[in-house]
Amino acid sequence: MKIAVCIKQVPSTNEVRLDPVTNTIIRDGRQSVTNPFDTYAIEEAVRIKEKLGGEVTVLSMGIPAAERLLRDACSRGADRGVLLSDRAFAGADTLATSYALSLWCKDAKLDLILCGKMAVDGDTAQIGPELAEHLGIPHITDVCEILSIDERSVTVKKATAYGFAHMKTPLPALLTVVKDINLPRMASIPGVRAGQAAEIKIYTAADLGADPSRCGLSGSPTQVVRTFTPERDTEAMEISGTTQDKAQTILTLFREVQ
Ligand code: FAD
Repeated sequence: MKIAVCIKQVPSTNEVRLDPVTNTIIRDGRQSVTNPFDTYAIEEAVRIKEKLGGEVTVLSMGIPAAERLLRDACSRGADRGVLLSDRAFAGADTLATSYALSLWCKDAKLDLILCGKMAVDGDTAQIGPELAEHLGIPHITDVCEILSIDERSVTVKKATAYGFAHMKTPLPALLTVVKDINLPRMASIPGVRAGQAAEIKIYTAADLGADPSRCGLSGSPTQVVRTFTPERDTEAMEISGTTQDKAQTILTLFREVQ
């Protein structure tokens, strides 16, 4: 089974800085980590490979420093990495990002694509569904368990607003996964060596035959008009006393806000 896992480099959460002029997140490669949801997608892909055979490619569009995260994924069981990196991709919104990812995926003839549920910085959860649309394949979001999978189809348990749903789709397909799906493994020492030795291929927009008008800023209909840090309107208080006192205080507080 040929599986690709889309992974995104995100700032570690307390290091997010915005460029006040362009209104975009400053991404200089320092203090960056793999988007947490994507680590679960990597683990799930490796588990499927261990069960059914095949290969796992980790795919990222980003700056050259993202190679470190692709190697880290290979140290946890992925076979190779692909980095789409080119100035032409800079300033991409989700549409331009998913377009670029789709160009590599189209050529790779994949059976399954896994993404995280969302990226913790951009937060849109759009890339997975958009990528599936570019490729013309079905997708299922918020997958919390793969119930069964073979070369032809996959059946999953999916979290919904009301509980869970079981869904089956033919392959090739794209799934986005949530954190409940597994517990990602630590890299072993041989794994770290494998990660250092793994093949990481870098593709430019020209290598992919990308239409320049669909890449980067030119291919991005989204415009960030203004960014701001929301004001905190919550405060914490400690309630002390006996259990009865605490219950009474909480009751009084609830009545005040009603
Ligand atoms: P989500 O859709 O929430 O991510 C869901 C999943 O998709 C992830 O878990 C992962 O599996 C996959 N995924 C997401 N992004 C990638 C990726 N890059 N590679 C592989 N898999 C991925 N970002 C920049 O880095 N540089 C810029 O210059 C830049 N300029 C922007 C300009 C505009 C006008 C806008 C609106 C956004 C810009 N962004 C830029 C942000 C960029 O569009 C998003 O980070 C990106 O499209 C992913 O969206 P998201 O973070 O909401 O991911």
